[in-house]
Amino acid sequence: MDYLAVENASKTFGGGVRALDGVSFSVERDEFFTLLGPSGCGKTTLLRSIAGFADLTEGTITLDGARLDRTPPHRRDIGMVFQDYAVFPHLTVAENVAFGLKARKTPAAESAARVAEALATVRLGALAARLPAALSGGQQQRIGLARAMVIRPKLLLMDEPLSNLDAKLRIELRDEIRDIQKSVGTAAIYVTHDQEEALAISDRICVMNAGRIEQIGTPQEIYADPRTIFVASFVGTMNVTPWDAAGPGFPPGFAPDRAHVWAIRPEHLRIGEGRPGAVAIRGEVDKYTYLGREAHVAVRTPDGRFVIQVADPAPGLRMQPGTPVSVGFDPANALFFDEAG
Ligand code: ADP
Ligand code: MG
Repeated sequence: MDYLAVENASKTFGGGVRALDGVSFSVERDEFFTLLGPSGCGKTTLLRSIAGFADLTEGTITLDGARLDRTPPHRRDIGMVFQDYAVFPHLTVAENVAFGLKARKTPAAESAARVAEALATVRLGALAARLPAALSGGQQQRIGLARAMVIRPKLLLMDEPLSNLDAKLRIELRDEIRDIQKSVGTAAIYVTHDQEEALAISDRICVMNAGRIEQIGTPQEIYADPRTIFVASFVGTMNVTPWDAAGPGFPPGFAPDRAHVWAIRPEHLRIGEGRPGAVAIRGEVDKYTYLGREAHVAVRTPDGRFVIQVADPAPGLRMQPGTPVSVGFDPANALFFDEAG
C-alpha cells in the first residue's frame, strides 16, 4: 500500500480559480519527492492541503493508512518548512526547536535530548542559546528544518525552503537537506520552481502546470524522456521546432506519423557536419553566449533557431554573428511530440 496517497485532489478558490485540478500521486515511506512547476501552478495549495492548512474541494489524502483529510492539522504528524523561515524572533534557537515538543507536552528531559539531537543534525549545536536575529538566513532555515524534524514527523513538507538564500548557500543546503532526509528516512515532499534544484535533490519529480500533473518520474526520466512539450521546455534548455515532413534531413519515415513538433537539447547539437549519417542544417550564428564552463551558440536556420552547447574555444575563435555554420546532430537524440506546439 502507498505510504502517502493523494487521489483526485481538486481545489477551487472563491472567484473560480481552479488551483488544483484532479491531482493524483503517491509517495513512498523513505522517498524524497519534489513538486516542480512555475509560480502559480498550485504547489503551495497542494502542500497546504496535505498539511491541513487548507481543505480540498474534492479528493482524498491518505498517510500511513489513515485518512488525512479527516484528521485535524495538529494531529497529522507533519513537519513543515517555509520559504520565509517563520522562526519566532523572541525565542532562542533551542526554544524555537522545542516549540512543537512543548505543544505535544513532551517531558522536559526528553525534549532537551531531542532538541540537542535535532540541532546537532543541522549543525546548529553551538548556537542553541542565540536569538534568531543574530543568525544568517541559512542558519535560520536550519532552525526551520530542526523544528520540523524534532517532532519525528511521518511526513516532512518543504515549501521553497531555499528561495531566499544566495546561489552558493542554496547548493550547500540542498545537499544537506537531502543527506538529512536520507539518514533520518522520513518521507519528504519538497516544493521548488528551480529545475536544477529538483534534479539534484529528488528521488522522483512531479512536474506541475496550471493545477495539473504533467509527468512524474526520476530526475533522469524527466530530463531525458519528457512526455510533454511543457516538461521538455521547463526542465533544462530544449530547442523546440515545428515538425515539417520536408524538414531538416531526417531519414525518411524517421518521425512518428502524428509528430507536430520535434525537440533536441543543446548538448546533442554540434557545430559542423559531424559523422556520416548525422543530420546537418545550414545556418548562421545569431548569438554567442559565454557561460564559463561552456558556451551557447544560437544559430538561425531556415528550419528554426537552435541553441548549441559548445566547449568555449579560445577567445579569438569565438563566433561572430553572421558566421556561416552547419548544425549537426544524431537523429536518435531528437524527441517528437504530437501536441500542437
Ligand atoms: P504556487 O505555489 O505553485 O506558486 P499556489 O498554490 O500559491 O501556486 O497558487 C495556485 C493558484 O491559486 C494561483 O492562481 C493563485 O493565485 C491561486 N490562489 C492561491 N491561494 C489563493 C487564495 N487563498 N485565494 C484565491 N486564490 C488563491
Ligand atoms: Mg508557492
